[in-house]
Amino acid sequence: MTDYLYLNDYYLQTSEAKVAEVRNGTGIILDRTCFYPGGGGQPCDFGAIACKGVDYAMGEVRKENGEALHIVDKPGLNVGEAVVLQIDWPRRYALMRMHTAAHVLGSVAFRSGALITGNQLGVEQSRFDFSFENFDRAAFDAVVEKANSFLSQPIGVKSYDLPREEALANPEMVKLAGALPPSIAILHIVEIPGVDIQADGGTHVRSLSEVGQIKLLKIENKGAKNKRAYFALA
Ligand SMILES: [Zn+2]
Repeated sequence: MTDYLYLNDYYLQTSEAKVAEVRNGTGIILDRTCFYPGGGGQPCDFGAIACKGVDYAMGEVRKENGEALHIVDKPGLNVGEAVVLQIDWPRRYALMRMHTAAHVLGSVAFRSGALITGNQLGVEQSRFDFSFENFDRAAFDAVVEKANSFLSQPIGVKSYDLPREEALANPEMVKLAGALPPSIAILHIVEIPGVDIQADGGTHVRSLSEVGQIKLLKIENKGAKNKRAYFALA
């Protein structure tokens, strides 16, 4: 199993690692990684893997049976070699800000009677689908305004591991954590005190003050109560 270093430090931009396996020349399994392999609406990291003075561009990393499979631009890496990983940090940091913004928005929407049913985070803009009984634009604008009032406060974002039973004892977390397979005994929790708490494997900023403000770009109709909205951060 790959050791996922980002779970203990979302701000880790570089790390050393060892090549554990090479698949088809350019598919690299490492013993540990700081690269985010994608999931939960957050795209995977891009970056570089350096070895013996050669830089291998890494444009895709995904989870396969618990291991992170890194796809590099050329063959040349061998099992046992020591490498240095470097994340494309401006891109990752933009996605961290987006991810934390999405949690705040999702939580405020939920409390206001709207339900976020899916999201796809992007560097420039993010998209989310939501359902809102008797949708009314003014009510949704109020959701964004409330989310922005949280984002203007320096509220710290906490992350920690919690045994599954303990997590399920919190009624706020049952909705999501209850849907996770029972084989997962320890859940990684992301908590924004007073705003949101959920089991989450993505990466987040340390404080809401790093996010900026949500700017709603457009809302598309996907049915009577299903909508798709796009937002940017300013
Ligand atoms: Zn999340």
